[in-house]
Amino acid sequence: MNVRGKLFGAMAVLVFFVTVGYFGATQGYLKNRFEDYFKAKTTKLFEIYYKEHDNSWEGIEEIKISDALEQISPDGREIALLSSEGNILFFRGSGDSGSLIQQGKRNTVIVNGATVGTIYVDRWESTEDYLLKKYVLDSMRTQGLRVPTLTGIVALLLGLWLTKKLTEPLKRLIPAIQKIAVGELHVRIPVTTRDEFGKVTGALNHMAQQLLRAEEVRKNLTADVAHELRTPLSIIQCNMEVIQEGGRDIPPETLLPIQDEVIRLSKLVDDLHQLTLAEAGKLQLDRSPTDLVPLLDRIIDMLKPEAEERHIDIVRSYPVQKLNAFVDPHRITQVFYNLLTNAMRYTSSGGKISIRITDSSHEESRFASVSIEDTGIGIAAEQLPFLFDRFYRVEESRARHTGGMGLGLAIAKEFVEAHRGFISVQSEVGRGTQFTVHLPCA
Ligand code: ATP
Ligand code: MG
Repeated sequence: MNVRGKLFGAMAVLVFFVTVGYFGATQGYLKNRFEDYFKAKTTKLFEIYYKEHDNSWEGIEEIKISDALEQISPDGREIALLSSEGNILFFRGSGDSGSLIQQGKRNTVIVNGATVGTIYVDRWESTEDYLLKKYVLDSMRTQGLRVPTLTGIVALLLGLWLTKKLTEPLKRLIPAIQKIAVGELHVRIPVTTRDEFGKVTGALNHMAQQLLRAEEVRKNLTADVAHELRTPLSIIQCNMEVIQEGGRDIPPETLLPIQDEVIRLSKLVDDLHQLTLAEAGKLQLDRSPTDLVPLLDRIIDMLKPEAEERHIDIVRSYPVQKLNAFVDPHRITQVFYNLLTNAMRYTSSGGKISIRITDSSHEESRFASVSIEDTGIGIAAEQLPFLFDRFYRVEESRARHTGGMGLGLAIAKEFVEAHRGFISVQSEVGRGTQFTVHLPCA
């Protein structure tokens, strides 16, 4: 059974129970209430008599009890009263008192907590009471039937409409989900409502979008890796062929390009491994409060010989003597190393690289901010949004010539974000580039 059938079925059952409940209440329950009321009413008459006659049944045989019970219509009941000792004090009826006492309904008359007699009747209601009861119950049965019937019909119609309204968006979702399941990730379902269905539809669209992106990233990655592997492999292959054709002893300089490409290949494999780990959120971070001043100094010392050779001035500007960030020093060294090698790579001789450390706060958190600014070639504004994508290079030929693979910034970004920090870039073609890394403070 589909959801609509189930919902409608549930509503129909509900309507049925409400109707049955209504009749049960009006007919059965009210009947019992009437019976209790008439019983109490009859018993009360005897109680009043007993009290009014100085707590005795004196003269009871004389009383026309029916006078008190029936003002308008004759009371056709059989009634007997027995004293607490069991003597018949009063009897009125057509048959004999014995069978009434044996078969009739009974109730005790209690005055001041003591049982003073027992009443026996063939029925509790008088003729007048009976008519009243009949009138009330009959009118409830006939007139009252309309209310639950009408309510039931309205409820069922409403249920029909409501179940249709509830299940229709689901029906629209099913074919879309089936398409997504078989890989048609371009499917988008229009969001027409703001209720839960609208939210589910929105989430589904978002999921399809993410899947599409992941699929594209996967395809691109495979293509990029294949592309990156091809050049070094063909260089190695060419060199090997030359060596084989020569058939002589191999001079070391012939092996040099092969070694270069092998190094390049192992760096690629290593970088990809790190990047994949970081992207999957599986990067092991060994965090501790780390002073960024000596950490940066160590990297600068490493790059100094090359900088001196190319007459690039490395300027440090540390307004603080010590700034602790809560980071994995090994990973963060890699981040700054990537940024500084980029700055060196894309800055020509006589240029300048400035490194600044500042203490900043962002959204109530304290950050250690490190900016690396160069006076290099700069990056055009339209390239900036893709700069941190893997294998992205501003200029393919330029990068190949300068040896980059386009993974350095992607790794830097992933590593920084793994520390719950963030990285930003500002650049102007011909003037230089500034990268700023914000890392949470210890
Ligand atoms: P890898 O770092 O993997 O060896 P790469 O340096 O080419 O290679 P990224 O560090 O990711 O790759 O940088 C991506 C691209 O961004 C570079 O190819 C370069 O074009 C540009 N770029 C990065 N830093 C700078 C900079 N400081 N000045 C100018 N261009 C830059
Ligand atoms: Mg780089």
